[in-house]
Amino acid sequence: MILTFLGTAAANAFPEAFCKCRNCAQARTLGGPSLRKRSAALINNDLLIDLGPDIMAASHMHSCSLDDVRYCLQTHPHADHLDLSHLLSRSPAYGVVGAPVLDFYASRETLERAAETFERDLARYSLLSAEAEKYLNFKIHQVQPLEPFMVGPYSVVAFPANHAPGMGAMLYSIEANGRAIFYGTDTAALLEETWQAFRQHKMRFDAVILDHTYGPEQSGGDHLSAHQVIEHADRMRSEGVLGSRGRVFATHIAHEGNPAHPELAAFAKKHGYEVAYDGLVLTV
Ligand SMILES: [Zn+2]
Ligand SMILES: [Zn+2]
Ligand SMILES: [Zn+2]
Repeated sequence: MILTFLGTAAANAFPEAFCKCRNCAQARTLGGPSLRKRSAALINNDLLIDLGPDIMAASHMHSCSLDDVRYCLQTHPHADHLDLSHLLSRSPAYGVVGAPVLDFYASRETLERAAETFERDLARYSLLSAEAEKYLNFKIHQVQPLEPFMVGPYSVVAFPANHAPGMGAMLYSIEANGRAIFYGTDTAALLEETWQAFRQHKMRFDAVILDHTYGPEQSGGDHLSAHQVIEHADRMRSEGVLGSRGRVFATHIAHEGNPAHPELAAFAKKHGYEVAYDGLVLTV
């Protein structure tokens, strides 16, 4: 599988455009991998993870067309991960030609939240109606946590995230052709039921992507911190969840506690993981 990071920042992007903190100033000066858009990822050319607010910009900046995207796995409905206006803008009524039907996967709670927002702000019909499927050229699928399902050629499992109680936030494992990726943002420390499911399904990942909202000098909370990422990577290695050549990448990086890319990447290297950046293309 080819994994492209479309965005690697937490909710307020990095640099936060209005902020004068040291990290934002440093990122602005350095540019390149230090400039992060809100988190989203693309697998091969057809599976999007999160219909995020910056995916259009990412597509333009990283020469990464989304015109073959057929599937979307939605983690949760927070605004830095879900911009429902993309559903309208990619529809035939907005002049879009040749886009395949989009199979859109999310938890029940995420779909309910999305439907509320959509009907209040964007359209006069329900997102969960046959009308929506027709006008938006898409099809909704409700995912059941911890039950494997197929998304086209991909075998997927949704794991409840330790994040946004009541919103049905999910983390996803995605497997194809004997290779497996775990996409783990947004979340605080993984729930024990997730570790159990890893064991039960005998999961062994080639690449693990983890929430890294909080930096080296911060403790976690509602998201993972640098030190928790290190602990998670160690536990994954010792429990065999991470293959012997498996790699761990940080994403969802916030400006408050994380330095610009080169400094953060050096810290990560010392501690056995890597830092993703926007436009990074991984062959898994
Ligand atoms: Zn987020
Ligand atoms: Zn800042
Ligand atoms: Zn969130």
